[in-house]
Amino acid sequence: MPDLTPGVASALSPLVRRIVATNPGPFTGPGTNTYLVGIDEVAVIDPGPDDKKHVDSIVGASMKERVRWVMLTHTHPDHWPATKRLVKATGAELVMFGKGKKEKDVDLVPDRVIDAGDSIEGSEFGLEVLHTPGHAPNHLCFLLEEERVLFTGDTVLDGMYSVVNPARGGDMAVYLKTLERLKKLRLSRIAPGHGDVIEEPKAKLDDYLSHRKQREQQVLRLLKKRGSAKVKELVGDIYGNDGLPPELIEAAGWQVHAHLVKLKAEGKVSGTNARSAWSPA
Ligand SMILES: [Zn+2]
Repeated sequence: MPDLTPGVASALSPLVRRIVATNPGPFTGPGTNTYLVGIDEVAVIDPGPDDKKHVDSIVGASMKERVRWVMLTHTHPDHWPATKRLVKATGAELVMFGKGKKEKDVDLVPDRVIDAGDSIEGSEFGLEVLHTPGHAPNHLCFLLEEERVLFTGDTVLDGMYSVVNPARGGDMAVYLKTLERLKKLRLSRIAPGHGDVIEEPKAKLDDYLSHRKQREQQVLRLLKKRGSAKVKELVGDIYGNDGLPPELIEAAGWQVHAHLVKLKAEGKVSGTNARSAWSPA
């Protein structure tokens, strides 16, 4: 069983090591996963929160001059803030997506801009870049060609579902299309941004898709039953009013809202925003 203890570099395969950051929580699981790909030349995926100890662990896991690239799946604050510290400590090249909206407090300047179809070529590996919007508009996944491992950031997670929050660039319709695209890839494993390695990628993607389809149907049914309802009321119907901590109730509201926005675009419901009432079209 690979180690999810924060700060400990755990070998997942001949080419991949993982270090979990010390930021466990309801949205981060055991913490953000930082991946080290390669041995002689290393690409670091998602340096995580700005924590000196975590960066020391990343640098300590390789000879620092071997760290050649720092790459980000997206710019949510549990994935990127250690970037500057890590780049400074290693002299690595910062490789970032050139398009797609960034979070407003991200002040990183890439050394190299990448886009879908590009690849990072190390002496032992190739990492293909996939643009996978939905969780965030600038979300990328990276496919390790030699092992068919997909680094999914927050697009696919272990132990929880990905949050699609329209207030932070999340788009449910786009997200579902991304999942359908990922399903077509030949994958051996998924290395998610949070949680352990997923050994059955296709079953996981099927589960993610059916979870969303069921939720969408449930939202439609509840709206028909009620005639009209606010997001808060739908969350109460779906999850019950007690038992969930407040931050998870809020996240549940984002999900329901994201489904409503998608259904509105499809002409199936009418309404305007997260606080207004929605009704069947
Ligand atoms: Zn995350």
